[in-house]
Amino acid sequence: MADYPQNVVEFRDWFATESACRDYLVRLRWPQGPCCPDCASTAVWPMKTPFYRCARCGYDFTVTAGTLFADTHKPLRLWFEAIWYMTNQKSGVSALGLQRTLGLGSYRTAWSWLHKLRRAMVRSGRDRLTGVVEVDETYIGGPESGKRGRGASGKSLVLIAAQADGRKIGRIRLARVADASAKSLRPAVVHAVEPGTQIQTDAWTGYAGLTDVGYEHRVVRPTADLGENLLPRANRIAALLKRWLLGTHQGAVSPDHLDYYLDEYTFRFNRRTSRSRGLLFSRLMEQAVALEPVRGQDLIGGVR
Ligand SMILES: [Zn+2]
Repeated sequence: MADYPQNVVEFRDWFATESACRDYLVRLRWPQGPCCPDCASTAVWPMKTPFYRCARCGYDFTVTAGTLFADTHKPLRLWFEAIWYMTNQKSGVSALGLQRTLGLGSYRTAWSWLHKLRRAMVRSGRDRLTGVVEVDETYIGGPESGKRGRGASGKSLVLIAAQADGRKIGRIRLARVADASAKSLRPAVVHAVEPGTQIQTDAWTGYAGLTDVGYEHRVVRPTADLGENLLPRANRIAALLKRWLLGTHQGAVSPDHLDYYLDEYTFRFNRRTSRSRGLLFSRLMEQAVALEPVRGQDLIGGVR
C-alpha cells in the first residue's frame, strides 16, 4: 500500500496528532530505523519523546534535526497542512492564500514557509532530459526584446529545455542564465540535458558548439529572431511560465528569488499528470526531510 494519504479526509485521519506527524517523518527519513545525524551510527536509544540519543557519540537529536522542519516553533501538523495545501493546488499558492488557509498570524511567516518549501522542490542529482529536447530562452520580468545576447535591466533570461513526448511535452528543465552567450548557455544545457540527446534550437550563435560537447544538434529555424514558433514546446513553456508568474504570483517575483519559482514550476509541471496528489505530497515530504535546514536570514532579498 502506498505510504501517503489519498485525499483530504485520509490526510486529516493520518495526521491528527503531533506524534502521528513525527512517526511519518521517522518512516520517511529512516526507513531502516533511526540514525545519528552527526556520526551516522544506527546504535540509537529512544529518550523522552521526541528525543533520541546516539549510543556512539552521545548526540541527542530529534527526527526534524537537519531537515526543513528544524527549529520550527510551529506544530508539525501546521507544516503538514501547508505541504498538503501547496501540493494540492494545481497552479500553486500565494503567501496570502497560505496565510489565510492556515490562519497564520503573519504574512512574513507564510512567505518564508513557501520559500522553504520551494527549496525542497529541487532535487539534487535529478535526471537530465533525454530523447529529443527543444531548447530556447525567454525573458522574464519585462517586455520581450528582439535583441539577444545582451542583458536588459530588470529582466532575467531563462533557459528552457522541453523534452518531446510524441507531439506533446514531456519533462522540462528551467535555468536562469546570465546572458545568451555560448559561455552562459552551454553549461546550462549540459546541466539539464543528457549527452547524446538530440537538441533542437534556432540558429542563435549561443548554441553553436553543442556538437562539440556530445549532443546531436539540429537547427530547426534559420533565423535567430525571437517570436517564431518552430520550437513549439519550448515556446509553450515560456508562455505558461509567464502566465503562472503573473497569475499565481501577480508578477511579484524579484530576480533574487526567481530560481526558486523556476524550481517550483518545474516540480509542478513534471508531475502535472500524477494521478494522486497524495503522491506529490509524499515526494515533497521526502525532499523536506532530506534537506538541510533553511534559516530565515538565508532567504535574502526581502519579502516580495
Ligand atoms: Zn552519533
